[in-house]
Amino acid sequence: MRDTASALDGSPSAGAQALQIPGEWDREADIVVIGAGATGLPAAIVAREAGASVILVEVERDIGGHAIISGGNIPLGGGTSVQKKHGIEDSPDLLFRDLTDWSVVGPNGFPDYRYNDREIIRAFADNSAATFEWLLARGVVFVDKAPDALGGNSVGNSVPREMHCAVMDWPMAHNGEPADPAVQRIRSSGNGMMRSLEVAARKAGVQILLEHRMTRIWRQTPNSGSVLGIAVDHMGAKLNIRARKGVIIGTGGSTGNVNFRRMFDPRLTEEYCGLAGMPWSDQDARGELAAMAIGASLWGFYNQTGEFGSNVTKPGSVGCQYNYRHLQWMPGSPVFDRARATGLRVANWQDLILVNMLGKRFYDETGGQYIANNYNSLDPYVQGSYLNARNLTWNPNNFLNAALAGIDDGHNGGGPIWAIFDSDAVAREEWTPTPPYVDIAAGFFFAANRLADLAEKIVMKYQRVPMPPTNLEETVARYNSFVDSGADEDFGKPTPMYKIAKPPFYAAWATPVVHDTRAGLRINAKCQVIDLNGEIIPGLYCGGESAGGFSQHGLARAACQGYIAGNAAIGAPPFESAV
Ligand SMILES: Cc1cc2nc3c(=O)[nH]c(=O)nc-3n(C[C@H](O)[C@H](O)[C@H](O)COP(=O)(O)OP(=O)(O)OC[C@H]3O[C@@H](n4cnc5c(N)ncnc54)[C@H](O)[C@@H]3O)c2cc1C
Repeated sequence: MRDTASALDGSPSAGAQALQIPGEWDREADIVVIGAGATGLPAAIVAREAGASVILVEVERDIGGHAIISGGNIPLGGGTSVQKKHGIEDSPDLLFRDLTDWSVVGPNGFPDYRYNDREIIRAFADNSAATFEWLLARGVVFVDKAPDALGGNSVGNSVPREMHCAVMDWPMAHNGEPADPAVQRIRSSGNGMMRSLEVAARKAGVQILLEHRMTRIWRQTPNSGSVLGIAVDHMGAKLNIRARKGVIIGTGGSTGNVNFRRMFDPRLTEEYCGLAGMPWSDQDARGELAAMAIGASLWGFYNQTGEFGSNVTKPGSVGCQYNYRHLQWMPGSPVFDRARATGLRVANWQDLILVNMLGKRFYDETGGQYIANNYNSLDPYVQGSYLNARNLTWNPNNFLNAALAGIDDGHNGGGPIWAIFDSDAVAREEWTPTPPYVDIAAGFFFAANRLADLAEKIVMKYQRVPMPPTNLEETVARYNSFVDSGADEDFGKPTPMYKIAKPPFYAAWATPVVHDTRAGLRINAKCQVIDLNGEIIPGLYCGGESAGGFSQHGLARAACQGYIAGNAAIGAPPFESAV
């Protein structure tokens, strides 16, 4: 469909033409949603069910975003029907106070909630239970048990809120197969949530356009007026889609965009190429960049750099590019051609050492990653009490900071981290060190019969200096001496257990993984995007990982903000929009 109109109704004029606003629109709808993930699908359904026409554009070949491969653990509380059924007393006020409690800190002293935007958290607290009941009514099946704390990540300390979406019988993204029927209603996974929402969206009449990448957002002028629509790229074809009432950004964040993420943390250079959730979908900051190009502000930077949760994580597997600890790609996955290898899942970090580009160890390999506040992490706990911090034992875990520290050559970024192990470790872990378990072709796995040869073989895109063979030999010899003496004099690894002595020897990619985006576009309680002057950008909405001001892992804030944005964009009470 093509259409021309005048500037006043949000369409092109002669002046607007000078600003390159499209002269014609290829498609149009009341609401245009960008991204078919945990934010976008709820937003689209809400708007469509209220009578608006809705186009949902998704860059990938399938819907789901990170949400479909997620663990499906979703902390919606504030007084849900399930909390009530199990006698858990929660309320919007309790939830709000939990998520803004200045006094909660982790064992490394970092506060989870101190920098949360009160307006945004208030909106979440007030709509959390409603979002849960809405999901239930749209066919999302939850595991039938009391809310707990499993999988929680900055979800509030006072009461259990974690619900679990049942995986159900749709083929799963990571292996292309449905789950065993015995576990389909008891295993938590985002698969069931997102496929149920896809069914609800199609049933409601949302037009879902796959392989449509939003490339820019049209506004009357770059810094004023209403948002008019978006430009998309569809397999090389450029299209313009007009949005009569609003555009909702649900593009999932920015940690896959190297320059963007380095605004928050300069250490996160190119080698951190194993984004959790890729290659199913990226987080390339396109939503943020398109909104910033028409004046939008970013918000809540601390939440991205605070050392809690899963913004940067320790890998769970070695020997492949995509090695996030809660996700392993299998050959049956529709994206396995892009994932290339499953990786070797590490059961015991005693089975290997981790070295940097120079072949030197940098930390106790059994060290963990940052943690986050969850139900009962602080016990005793009194909201807002100075005693919460006093009752904690100071116990920072700096594994990630050591891995990201670099090699003292003036460069940012820690460079590749390599797991070094021998054939005895392979036997203990029951690994198969060949494709498709490891990615030899792209340089994420190497093997040799001598350690010196192994070091020389490590040539790949991100290894910007050669690993000196003598360094690796000396590192392994010293580590083996710690196994003999029973004490790691360099990094305090608890009782080093196994020597690295029996060839062949292996070097497997074990570089930290970037994951959550917790800072993004500035929004208000209605998920309206705000500009650098503090003014609403009329007709533009955002939620989920592309929105800032809210420090919490994942699904709950995304689904809730999708619910809010969808309602606000169509002007439904109590979210009447300014448009
Ligand atoms: C392995 C894994 C496990 C997880 N487990 C949990 C968990 O158990 N609990 C939890 O709460 N959270 C979990 N999360 C996090 C959670 O999945 C995300 O926080 C949540 O999905 C974010 O929702 P979103 O809508 O912001 O982004 P997404 O769900 O990622 O959706 C964004 C969508 O936008 C699309 N898109 C991006 N750019 C464009 C563009 N330019 N044009 C068109 N479309 C575009 C993407 O392709 C994607 O489909 C997990 C994440 C991963 C990767």
